[in-house]
Amino acid sequence: MSKVLVLGAGVSGLTSALSLIETFPDSIKELTIISSEFPGDYHSHDFASPWAGANWCSFASNSDKYQIIRDKFTYLKFLELSERDPRTQIKKFPVKHIASKEKETPWFIKENFVKDLTKITPEELRERNFDPDKFVGWQFTTVSISPNLYNNFLLSQLKTHNVITKRIQRIEHIEEVIDILGYTPDLVINCSGINGGKILSELDPEEADKVYPVKGQILQIYEDLPFQIMGDDLPTADIPLEDEFLNIFPRPEGGCIVGGIMRANDGSRNEIDGLFDNIERIAKRHVPELQKFTVFNKYVAIRNARKGGVRIEFSNYVMKSHKGNLNVVHNYGIGGSGYQSSFGSAKQVCELSTGVLGKKT
Ligand SMILES: Cc1cc2nc3c(=O)[nH]c(=O)nc-3n(C[C@H](O)[C@H](O)[C@H](O)COP(=O)(O)OP(=O)(O)OC[C@H]3O[C@@H](n4cnc5c(N)ncnc54)[C@H](O)[C@@H]3O)c2cc1C
Repeated sequence: MSKVLVLGAGVSGLTSALSLIETFPDSIKELTIISSEFPGDYHSHDFASPWAGANWCSFASNSDKYQIIRDKFTYLKFLELSERDPRTQIKKFPVKHIASKEKETPWFIKENFVKDLTKITPEELRERNFDPDKFVGWQFTTVSISPNLYNNFLLSQLKTHNVITKRIQRIEHIEEVIDILGYTPDLVINCSGINGGKILSELDPEEADKVYPVKGQILQIYEDLPFQIMGDDLPTADIPLEDEFLNIFPRPEGGCIVGGIMRANDGSRNEIDGLFDNIERIAKRHVPELQKFTVFNKYVAIRNARKGGVRIEFSNYVMKSHKGNLNVVHNYGIGGSGYQSSFGSAKQVCELSTGVLGKKT
């Protein structure tokens, strides 16, 4: 029987913990989650999970077969949860996904993977101020997730499995978990987001500089919309800022989030000059259904991305300040896809844990 520690209580840590406890019920004696922040905390802009949109619309490039596997698995899981378990508060919506004709068609359209896939007509594109000679659009079924509601659901599920939680100050080095616990766990799952590489600076120095922030900005409005809309590319007439796109997701409990931007290597709390006005103007230009809306919240938040993509990998480290070795499975640096690949990533975490926890039961 093993003792497992999950470091981090964002969507990656919570989903990894739940998948582990469900996959290895006979070999995990104790599972502890330690983290500086937990669901419900909003004080930290670089704790990514509370600030997400969140929806499923894979960003995996057509050649990234491992990310595609993770995203596919999660899409099907989310659809199933939306139908089977109202406690998740995951809700199905159609999404209108509009992109430049110059771009490669995304894998989930090419493969006809997503449910209820149709093409948006040239008339609708024109009504939405997208020139059908330059833009193409598809509609399919996806999900909206309210991060706070959903992450609290995951935590409540973990509590039914007697998972222990402990709030800690941010650690500098991964070996500090041993002093906090008072023992060396058989396995550590590193889901510490923006600090996923930094806490390895002694054991795995090459990782320290690989994780980087990607800024996002979001408005929240009271009004509802019966669909999501995503404009990956925007017409020049919109006068968008660099890295700006259009994202509107109705939330399961009501109201919508309106975004946004993906600005790499900016981890500051400051809002980008003029961006909130731009987001509002561009949303109204492309969504006639939202000619008037009332903003009740605006925020800046950070995604944690990693050069080379998410790290889902097993490491056996010889420790520097403690005796013995430390088994670690990493799951950090997922960027803007933490929800939409969460169950696929957690499945891979379980596969990499079999060396320590034995065969799946
Ligand atoms: C504006 C915005 C919109 C987004 N929209 C979507 C979307 O539509 N769909 C989607 O799939 N994703 C979306 N994302 C991305 C998604 O939010 C992230 O990918 C996801 O939340 C990452 O989760 P995580 O658990 O890996 O990291 P985090 O949520 O950052 O969690 C890290 C955890 O580790 C803990 N921690 C960190 N460092 C330490 C330390 N040193 N010591 C102790 N504890 C530590 C933190 O307290 C926290 O609990 C969006 C993100 C943003 C900002």
